[in-house]
Amino acid sequence: MTDRFTAYVVTKTEAGGVSAGMAELPRDDLPPGDVTLRVEWSSLNYKDALAATAHPGVVRRFPHVPGVDAAGTIERSDSPRFRPGDRAFVTGYGLGAERWGGWADVVRLPAEFLVPLPDGLTLRESMILGTAGFTAALSVEALLRHDVPTDGGEIVVTGASGGVGSLAVALAARAGYTVVAVSGKPQAADMLRGLGASRVVGREEVNDASKKPLLSARWAGAIDTVGGNTLATLLRSTARAGCVAASGLVGGVDVPLTVHPFILRGVTLAGIDSDQCPLERRIALWNRLAGEWRLDLASLAREVALAEIGGPVAEILAGGVVGRVVVPI
Ligand code: NDP
Repeated sequence: MTDRFTAYVVTKTEAGGVSAGMAELPRDDLPPGDVTLRVEWSSLNYKDALAATAHPGVVRRFPHVPGVDAAGTIERSDSPRFRPGDRAFVTGYGLGAERWGGWADVVRLPAEFLVPLPDGLTLRESMILGTAGFTAALSVEALLRHDVPTDGGEIVVTGASGGVGSLAVALAARAGYTVVAVSGKPQAADMLRGLGASRVVGREEVNDASKKPLLSARWAGAIDTVGGNTLATLLRSTARAGCVAASGLVGGVDVPLTVHPFILRGVTLAGIDSDQCPLERRIALWNRLAGEWRLDLASLAREVALAEIGGPVAEILAGGVVGRVVVPI
């Protein structure tokens, strides 16, 4: 074992700019943790693109290693939960943001961050799902927990061609919902129907510019990855006792809204935080993803080498990625 490891490293230049690319770092500089994971797969999420471009909302210390997801084999463990050779993965818990992440051949972390690879999933599949799939699963689960019936009319998924959105379309359809996919990419319509969408509509359908506190009740529920006025429109057009699961902000952080959807229609706004989801619930949901909600994931992912990740980083920031990008390490 060498005393160095290889990673995609983001640094600030002396001139105040940002440089990013493959580099070696000392193993001694890895963050603390009782487990060392030899990474075999990671992935690209929107947050990784923010980290890779040194967005101050995500990264404050440099040099930084992005990667909110990592899957691989345990190299060393001081925890009774894992032994060398076990296969496991991590999504979130500040990985790739507050601490160095999975865009590296080695990650050191506390054992309680790690999910043992469930039967029914490969390491690669765990990263095709990754944070995006887990967030999508939490969102579908939120609709079920808030009693949105699967036969109660259409539910809508925004940002549908993206990572969270595409997996939310597939998982919501698998759970039995009639899913309307909202996408700004007409070329993604066939793919979305293939994932289980009953119909595909444009972004303007859920981006109402009027100041009306309530709109006609169109949706039994919604899974929103966009935020901003889109989230406000969804809340104003959700039917009585419906639920909107909100996870994203690609369309903005301000949500112009009155209390009317909540007090006149009993609509629930369910916040989705995949990063800090407790381990027990996390493991249960991953078992569901490996079992009753198992998807055929092959068509959803393309592989990009870590050294080539700069292109897809720019693409995801521009809203142009379709499906998931997985990264072999
Ligand atoms: P992607 O870029 O893969 O997907 C986002 C999709 O949103 C795009 O593909 C596009 O889909 C749509 N979109 C992009 N820009 C706009 C815009 N300006 N207005 C409307 N729609 C837009 O990102 P991810 O799936 O990785 O993440 C999606 C969001 O979810 C991000 O905000 C991310 O930070 C958040 N997130 C939150 C998590 C949580 O735990 N709360 C965990 C993971 C992600 P289309 O062209 O089909 O409309």
